[in-house]
Amino acid sequence: MQLRLQRFQLTKAVPLAISRGTTATAEHLLVSLEHDGLTGIGETGGFETGHRHYDIDAVAAELEAVAPQLAALAPEPLQALEPLLAALSPPARCGLDLALHDWWGKRLNQPLHRLWGLDPGACVATSVTLGLGTPEAVLARLERWWLQLPATRIKLKLGSPAGIAHDLPLLEGVATALEQRRQQTGSACELQVDANGGWDLATARAMLEPLERAGVVLLEQPLAPLLDPEADSAGFAALHGESPLPLVADESCWRLADLLRLAPHVDGINIKLLKSGGLSEALLLAQTARRLGLGVMVGCYSDGALLNGAAAQLLPLVTWPDLDSHLNLVDDPFTGLTLEGDVLIPPAGPGLGINLGISMGQASC
Ligand SMILES: [Mg+2]
Repeated sequence: MQLRLQRFQLTKAVPLAISRGTTATAEHLLVSLEHDGLTGIGETGGFETGHRHYDIDAVAAELEAVAPQLAALAPEPLQALEPLLAALSPPARCGLDLALHDWWGKRLNQPLHRLWGLDPGACVATSVTLGLGTPEAVLARLERWWLQLPATRIKLKLGSPAGIAHDLPLLEGVATALEQRRQQTGSACELQVDANGGWDLATARAMLEPLERAGVVLLEQPLAPLLDPEADSAGFAALHGESPLPLVADESCWRLADLLRLAPHVDGINIKLLKSGGLSEALLLAQTARRLGLGVMVGCYSDGALLNGAAAQLLPLVTWPDLDSHLNLVDDPFTGLTLEGDVLIPPAGPGLGINLGISMGQASC
């Protein structure tokens, strides 16, 4: 199969601030695999989680380096490609894994969720994200979301470097706005909180009562992820027994081994394709988490609709969809991922079901 890489820019309509910094743009890679008259496409990019960092240039170099090996291989059976994929970083593996799944679904002329036996009618609303900022700015962002879609599930980012003095008034302001909306419209909004690892244990403990009082339904990644797996799990274990809210691991949970070590100490995991290295591991994570009685979130970084459309193939398995990044882009090059109200629909076209909507030109890496 022939590999082709093209870089493209993604620009946010509203920059997003979290505990680790602010993102306004991202450079991503379109990964195309052509074989036997069919082309599978995947998207990948660099990202960082506080304890691990992947640079787009390094991801592109990894993929360019395996192009000669891919030229001698076919995209099926997928199992035969596992040794090659296993040697790659998660984001490089993700780009190829998505393109291979897309090719496979196109060869069989079916969307992936159908090949997996999933029910596309079993999907629930996605959350939309509110970043860090002054209460006034964050509430203005909330109003903008409500102009775009029903937005009945809100994910509020906390864990500000400015500390609890920032987080508490912001939490209170958003909770008050949601209660006002409930009184005005008669429909309640769900409030989730993601600290992106911005709290220490004492701060996390101090926030539990205000979070519960604000009606928050889950707390995601309160503590910074740690490279030492035992120490990382110990942080969740310390909070789990005393937290009235479900705890969800994001930056700490990448692969099945992370899920298994964290399972006794969390109530759910946030799966992202760039962390898992694509759909093969993500499907395994989602199925295993459900069998273990855990909630499943599927999330995103600054991703376009190709990455989010790939993740949307898993939505029938997902308790807390969190795939809103493409809804905040002014130049998303992809089409095929649609909303009904605030429910994302798994694309029905073959493979990932996502198309390139605008030309990216001939530029390659
Ligand atoms: Mg998160």
